[in-house]
Amino acid sequence: MQTTDILSQLVAMSCSLAEPANDFVILAEGNTSARVDGDTFWVKASGVGMRGIGPGGFVQVSFERVQSMLTGPDLTDYETREALQAAKIDPAAIGHPSVETVLHALCLALPGINFIGHTHPTAINAITCSVAFEEAVSGRLFPDEIVLCGPASVAVPYTDPGLPLARTVKERIDAFIDQYGEVPKTIYMQNHGFIALGSSPSQVENITAMAVKAARVLAGAYAIGGPHFMSQQAIDRIHTRPDEHYRQRLLGGK
Ligand SMILES: [Zn+2]
Repeated sequence: MQTTDILSQLVAMSCSLAEPANDFVILAEGNTSARVDGDTFWVKASGVGMRGIGPGGFVQVSFERVQSMLTGPDLTDYETREALQAAKIDPAAIGHPSVETVLHALCLALPGINFIGHTHPTAINAITCSVAFEEAVSGRLFPDEIVLCGPASVAVPYTDPGLPLARTVKERIDAFIDQYGEVPKTIYMQNHGFIALGSSPSQVENITAMAVKAARVLAGAYAIGGPHFMSQQAIDRIHTRPDEHYRQRLLGGK
């Protein structure tokens, strides 16, 4: 696929996620990205709102240069900014890569992942900002949540945005892959927000929509005495059913 095709898909996905009726983001909240190939990806520029965003709201950056920040020494805010600027494919391009660019790089480097949607949905942040955060995101509530969002989520304790957050998310993703033998589809960050990891734009949109629904169900369940999470056996059954795999493919790829 051409770089420009990928960018236009990313623009459409971002505008869709930012629809006011969704209540996933307001103002300049959230950021999105798309993998071009093994060398580069597009990421939203810092300070740009996703609502009505155009191609000029994104910058193309080098995987290698961004990923070297992950394994390199700790950086000050100024050094982080300089390193992100230096990661741009076209140094003269307008726009500065989002502070969460390192986070996007590590998610887009996972097998089968081509698009990332990071949002701050009100319904999800009611959960991530609650005292019940860890327990609340530890289970699965209904079969469609498993079909869209996978058998479990990655939960990340509150961490300073930027490089420290990216490093913590990487640790948690690695632990998830060790435990489940597959790449996560949903990441919940305490007191911050949500990340959907998808092979396609529609998968990112569907995962986000289903996670928001699950968050609303969860809040309702807590109001009526607490959630009844599905058993591991029931989760495994849904996750491995051939008819559910068929539905997953229909819903934007597996
Ligand atoms: Zn955020």
